[in-house]
Amino acid sequence: MASSPRPTLHRILSRLLAPGRGEVRAMEDALHLAGVLRFVGIFLATIVLPALMLGWIGIRSIRGSELDLQADARRQGEVAARAFADSLDRRFVAFEQELTTRLEAGRFGFDSPRELHPDLVVSLGFDADLQLDAPFRAEEPLRTLSGGPLDMRAWRAADRIAREDGDPQRAEAALLQAEGLLARADEQARARFDRGRLLLLGEHAAQGEALLRQLALQHGALRDPWGFRYADLVALKLGERAMAQDPDQGGVAMRALVDQLLAEPWTVGFGGEGAIARRALSLAEAHQDADWVSSARGRVASRSAMLYWTEQLLPEFDPAAAWTDLEGIRPGTARWRTGSRALWAATRWEDGLYAHAFNLESLTARLATEARVSMPADSPIKLQLLGPDDPEPAELVERRSLQPQLAGWSVAVTLRDPAALRAEQGRQRVLRFGIVALAVGTIALGFTTSIRMIGRELDVARMKADFAASVSHELRSPITQIRLKGESLMLGLADTEEEQQAAYHAIVRESERLSRLVDNVLDFAAIERGAKRYTLRPGELGESVRRALVSMESSLEFKEMSLEVIIPDDLPDVHHDADAVVQCVINLVSNAAKYSADGETVRIVARAAEGELRGKVQPLVEVSVIDNGIGIAAHDLRQIFEPFFRSRDSLARRRKGTGIGLTITQYIMEAHGGDIQVTSKPGKGSTFTLRFPLEPPPEDAASGRAPARPSARRKPTGA
Ligand code: ADP
Repeated sequence: MASSPRPTLHRILSRLLAPGRGEVRAMEDALHLAGVLRFVGIFLATIVLPALMLGWIGIRSIRGSELDLQADARRQGEVAARAFADSLDRRFVAFEQELTTRLEAGRFGFDSPRELHPDLVVSLGFDADLQLDAPFRAEEPLRTLSGGPLDMRAWRAADRIAREDGDPQRAEAALLQAEGLLARADEQARARFDRGRLLLLGEHAAQGEALLRQLALQHGALRDPWGFRYADLVALKLGERAMAQDPDQGGVAMRALVDQLLAEPWTVGFGGEGAIARRALSLAEAHQDADWVSSARGRVASRSAMLYWTEQLLPEFDPAAAWTDLEGIRPGTARWRTGSRALWAATRWEDGLYAHAFNLESLTARLATEARVSMPADSPIKLQLLGPDDPEPAELVERRSLQPQLAGWSVAVTLRDPAALRAEQGRQRVLRFGIVALAVGTIALGFTTSIRMIGRELDVARMKADFAASVSHELRSPITQIRLKGESLMLGLADTEEEQQAAYHAIVRESERLSRLVDNVLDFAAIERGAKRYTLRPGELGESVRRALVSMESSLEFKEMSLEVIIPDDLPDVHHDADAVVQCVINLVSNAAKYSADGETVRIVARAAEGELRGKVQPLVEVSVIDNGIGIAAHDLRQIFEPFFRSRDSLARRRKGTGIGLTITQYIMEAHGGDIQVTSKPGKGSTFTLRFPLEPPPEDAASGRAPARPSARRKPTGA
């Protein structure tokens, strides 16, 4: 073995294997093992690794895609929540700017806060002592008839007289008497007002007017039990009277009363100013210009609503705390505070504190609706407004606080339809798994196919190598025999007649064998080249079969084998190439002899028959060669017609051969438009049957474009 300059895999292996095996065996085994190892290496590198990598990438991409969907929803959620919070913030910032602008212009409050924001219900000013002073005053002590159930029987009697009798004179007298009896100023005021009212209706109207004016001057700030100030009541009464005398003049008086009421602060806790203003407005309406009326009505309504909300919300506003909050920050900047019913924005300007309240319920209801409709119906997420007491929703994707304005409130992003998202993830997973499995499967399939192809090529290569070895061996042994026998004859070593005859027979037999071999090899080469032609002529097939058997006689005789030949005389003529048919029969008979024990009988049976050939049922002539030899294993049956195929069965291996005899035979039969069939059973024997059609085959099949390679597989029929 030539030594290689660098140690190769098989050299290393052969060293390892050498002890106890002998150098040559070790080298052979090592070569084999090295091949296996190389194969395993290639397999790992080209299949296992790429398949694993592909699988890994695939699985990662599947997980990635699932995360993608979630990340997508999260990203959308973040954007939506931020957009929502930003837009809210922008609106509040715009509101703060408006506050600053107004403060700079010296307009501290809003007559109608709703114009600025639909949920802004209150706009209040506090003085330097943090007392409410615009547009309302803090509730003043109730300076009215506060004595509970009044001990003023006289006044009550007078009141009844005034209402039931309708006699003003008597009522007035009664009231006057009552006034005298009443001790407290406010009680007296009440009786005086009623008296003045009564006087106003009767003949002493001027006296009544004077009485009322005096009452307004003295006790105008006092309130009656319903919260009305006497000054306002008197103004209303006098206005009404003026109206009865001269409507235009009365209208002017009413307008003056409304303007005056709107110009001064109202008092929290009393609705009197609002009620008087509305009454005066409705009386003045017909006599004043429409613009003023509508503007005044709006202002009165707004002031009344604001008063209502101030009464509702003020208890939760702590001016002192708000003032502390605002310490040190730029005047005009708002500080936000979320109460239970209101969202307060407090600002400071010079020494004043200004507080603006949003109705929290309507504001958050509006925001909740805005959040709900902010995402289109086909979006995977939805927005939801969460209050301080709301539980965290399931499938929460993102939550953004609405600080600093709405402390405790947040906007939450949730999955609109988690089941649909999961279903989509599942679909993608299946799809991607499918793609990965397909890719891995394709690699595996490609690999196994190539391995099989390589295996077949290797088999063919091995068989060709075997063929070359067999041919040389097959050539050598008859040549040696012929030479030996020739030499012994030439040198007179064969003494007896018998010995000489035996030598002649041997020479003839071996020459026949030699020529059969050479015929087969040459024919096979011609077939492989596509150069083999056959000339089909009608003739007696039995004749050709007999010719073949004659040429086999000495070989069979040598093995002491007998032939049993049945060829009917009336066989129909068949188109055939006689030499080719002889070659076929020789191949089959010599195989029968070769793969049977010495002394056995080989039967040759020809007969006319009918059978299916090339998809057509037709009359045939069959020639069967039947032996009782070693038989053929089922797995070999599929391959015996392939070029160079030789069974690996040890019994068959003991016989020399080239593996092309059956290939040539099959090729010849196809050229005749016929076929060869085999049935066999290991240990029992084989039957090969040549089937010829009576109809001559088309020209091409016999002489023209024969297949470059003998067609490989002929489906055998099991024995
Ligand atoms: P070979 O020269 O090897 O005989 P063939 O092409 O004639 O080549 O036959 C191919 C193989 O088929 C043989 O190697 C043998 O294994 C098997 N074979 C052919 N004829 C017979 C038979 N009559 N009995 C048993 N085996 C047979």
